[in-house]
Amino acid sequence: MSEIMELIVPCYNEESCVDLFYEAVRELADGDLKGVVDIRLMFVDDGSSDGTLAALKRIAEKAPEGTVHYISFSRNMGKEAAIYAGLKHSTGDYVAVMDADLQHPPAMLKDMLHALKDEGYDSCGARREDRKGEGAVKRLFSVLYYHVINRMTVVELTPGSTDFRLMKRQMVDAVLKISERERFTKGIFAWVGFNTKWIPYHNVERAAGKSKWSVKGLFHYASSGLIAFARAPLRFAVWFGGFSVFAAFAFAILLLVWEFGGFADVRAVHIVIFLLLLFGGLCVALLGLAGEYLARIMSEVKQRPIYIIRESNLQEEKD
Ligand code: UDP
Ligand code: MG
Repeated sequence: MSEIMELIVPCYNEESCVDLFYEAVRELADGDLKGVVDIRLMFVDDGSSDGTLAALKRIAEKAPEGTVHYISFSRNMGKEAAIYAGLKHSTGDYVAVMDADLQHPPAMLKDMLHALKDEGYDSCGARREDRKGEGAVKRLFSVLYYHVINRMTVVELTPGSTDFRLMKRQMVDAVLKISERERFTKGIFAWVGFNTKWIPYHNVERAAGKSKWSVKGLFHYASSGLIAFARAPLRFAVWFGGFSVFAAFAFAILLLVWEFGGFADVRAVHIVIFLLLLFGGLCVALLGLAGEYLARIMSEVKQRPIYIIRESNLQEEKD
């Protein structure tokens, strides 16, 4: 029996895309990948308000038995939730996550599979080489964001990396061990490690319909990535506050020298500056410190695994 490659496809109001997507996948399954792997589809309807679910049901009905599955959410829960649900219910030996709008070309799956099967990689992702069709502002924010998040966090995000990737079962199981609620999938993929190959491709415009991202949604996505993985802002608060307290004492010494050395008169405003520096700094530093404790509580609550084994010769530690 040949191995199974399962494609997880989050869909939110994609009625104009899902049929096109299915056709593209069929073409691949009957073409380049025929006899190499069996392709299964797992559509996750993320609470669409259009005819997406009906279209998915139609596709599942006409497709060969057991090759197309769908899950439909009770409301829009977000792409990250849809990806998690899809991964959780997946059973394939190779599992891919990809968009329904054909911006993630199914034809790339062939090279991705080659990387996993023949080159020994655990996962293979698509990296956009250009951002044609995207506004300059979005592009600028994206570049800045990767710069900041890579400096601030332990995980290394590849600039231009997309959510389109194919993984081996072992990596999917590792991703599923991370059961936190606020999911920043891109960071989680990076966090679990394993060897990832990046294949560059040119940005493709969506097949039909409109992007589902609003500015607010993107902002929330970006900040949840930072909050889930970065502690640097808290450290900054501690350092900044500490520096202010230090400056307060230095200023106090200066005032004493002024007063007793007879260089200048110490006025009320000087005392106010001293007090502001001292108490302002103390407040900020203590807030940062309290934040550090919160971050630690958050990390315990998340219950991420302490380590993930890629291989070993111990039978009992294999999973
Ligand atoms: N999506 C989703 N839930 C959402 C928003 C988007 O499942 O709340 C899906 C959407 O149907 C598509 C993928 O996530 O398959 C990427 O969305 P989109 O194409 O709108 O994003 P963009 O390509 O513009 O970044
Ligand atoms: Mg898209």
